[in-house]
Amino acid sequence: PCPLCPTLTARVLQVALRIRPMSVAELQRGARPIAHRLDEQVVVLRDPTQNPDNVLRASRSREKSYVFDAAFDSTSTQETVYRATTQGFIASVISGCDATVFAYGPTGCGKTYTMLGTDSEPGICARALGDLFHAIKECSSDAEHEVSMSYLEIYNEVIRDLLSPSPHSLQLCEDSHGTVRVVGITEVSAGSTEEVLQLLLRGNQRRTQEPTAANHTSSRSHAVLQVTVRPRGRGLRCGRLQLIDLAGSERAAWTQNRGQRMKEGAHINRSLLALGNCIKALSKPGGSAHVNYRDSKLTRLLKDSLGGNSHTVMIAHISPASTAFEESRSTLTYAQRAK
Ligand code: ADP
Ligand code: MG
Repeated sequence: PCPLCPTLTARVLQVALRIRPMSVAELQRGARPIAHRLDEQVVVLRDPTQNPDNVLRASRSREKSYVFDAAFDSTSTQETVYRATTQGFIASVISGCDATVFAYGPTGCGKTYTMLGTDSEPGICARALGDLFHAIKECSSDAEHEVSMSYLEIYNEVIRDLLSPSPHSLQLCEDSHGTVRVVGITEVSAGSTEEVLQLLLRGNQRRTQEPTAANHTSSRSHAVLQVTVRPRGRGLRCGRLQLIDLAGSERAAWTQNRGQRMKEGAHINRSLLALGNCIKALSKPGGSAHVNYRDSKLTRLLKDSLGGNSHTVMIAHISPASTAFEESRSTLTYAQRAK
């Protein structure tokens, strides 16, 4: 167990899976739902390319089930997803732990919906910050904790400061304690959820978004929100909550792009592949000795979160549609492997 927050187990990666509702575009294309949640932990995916009219015997091999720590579908609310994945981290972060929440999955499958959400259906960022500010007010008589945030993106293996009016590229460095820092990143102190959301929205407009054949607003960058909770008092540990909206995990080949886009695809795959490899190594007993963080900017940045005294949850996202079968299968395989 974690020495700072005995209710949570340290250094364990939890993996959740969320299936979004069918989209209008998918329904118009005549897609059928092929992914569904069987129970609180199991998701079933049916292969639509195999003959559906065949005997019952065949249906077994057409369906594959995948087990997660939690499974969500179109009936799961933003509140439900937040509670099951992130809420338990808030007290830990205030007591000095690190916690990280990732959204993983192909473009258009709901990563930004889960992390940011909408005005009427706020996502994990708003809910976590709301609970964080609330808990700090409750547990300390008067502002004994200072909350600050930074927001960055990793695009083509370059780190950009999303809170700077003129984002330029930033470098990573390791201090004498081996802690990884982003040199010169903007750190803004925050007093309320509304303030943080304003900063996030402004930062999001600076995110690199370019049209591709797959999706016109596809996010080709990883967006990382870092919230630091600093107790005002000597010798007390800082806690840090990282909320990460990863770049789309679709393969470069599927987006039918060349040149610049292919290069982006290669970089994205490199970061996500490196992340997958780190997570896989860490999930094995004694595996932390064999983790190679240096393979990508993303894994270098997350070295402390993945290998340190951190609580981490990955929320993988899929579409339920038959037209997304290949992507869903590879996402389920990646996420299951991460467990
Ligand atoms: P991504 O960030 O993975 O590319 P988005 O979060 O932008 O995907 O989601 C794509 C579209 O699907 C958006 O219009 C979003 O509002 C909608 N959507 C995604 N997940 C859900 C959900 N669980 N419930 C309702 N709408 C969703
Ligand atoms: Mg997105």
